[in-house]
Amino acid sequence: MNISNKIKEIKADLPDTVQLLVVSKRQPMSAIREAYEAGQRAFGESQMQELKDKQYFLPKDIEWHFIGHLQTNKVRFIAPFISLIHSVDSVKLLEEINNQARKQNRIIHCLLEIRIAREKTKYGFSFEEVRSLYEKDIFAQWPHIHITGMMGMASLTDDEILIQSEFYSLSLFFNEIKEQYAPWFSVLSMGMTDDYEIAVKEGSTIVRIGSHIFGKKEKRKKKK
Ligand SMILES: *Cc1c(COP(=O)(O)O)cnc(C)c1O
Repeated sequence: MNISNKIKEIKADLPDTVQLLVVSKRQPMSAIREAYEAGQRAFGESQMQELKDKQYFLPKDIEWHFIGHLQTNKVRFIAPFISLIHSVDSVKLLEEINNQARKQNRIIHCLLEIRIAREKTKYGFSFEEVRSLYEKDIFAQWPHIHITGMMGMASLTDDEILIQSEFYSLSLFFNEIKEQYAPWFSVLSMGMTDDYEIAVKEGSTIVRIGSHIFGKKEKRKKKK
């Protein structure tokens, strides 16, 4: 099935409340163009240089999302145009995003990446860290950042019960922080190719899908 049909098929299955982010990392610009012609406007990338190049050459009404681990020294390159950073995982990074957003005279929308998976290598805040940041009202010192919600990745496993319980715990935590501190929270980024159907059931508002749309095998060999 071609890219535009895949996108239409996925969108038809998603509830109206759930946005599709097409993850275009390692995909050539021609593939992104095809998705764009099919009406897709939101794309997710995980590497600064690749994103910068694509943003330069592709249509300016594309909404670019950053979904990978972001190093503080790379923030300034994406600050002028990024729509949403899903993967904010440290206070140091928050400080730098605020700095660069101020220089651009922008308010950058961010999600707090929360560690929910079993794997130890995953980036992100713990529930406790986030609670303590909100207790201290730390976000008030960063007027150029707007935290609109949270992002999380479930364990890489076939155990659907485990995946579901991880998404459920993030959904509960999202609602806890929303009720206590952040009534404007509206974005819960959960779910990728292998687990987005579970994530949607657990309250995701944006799913990040790559290989289901572009195919698994093409991913690496297309790297420039
Ligand atoms: C690559 C990536 C995705 C998309 O993964 P697929 O399994 O190809 O859908 C989603 N989220 C993040 C953070 C990623 O790095």
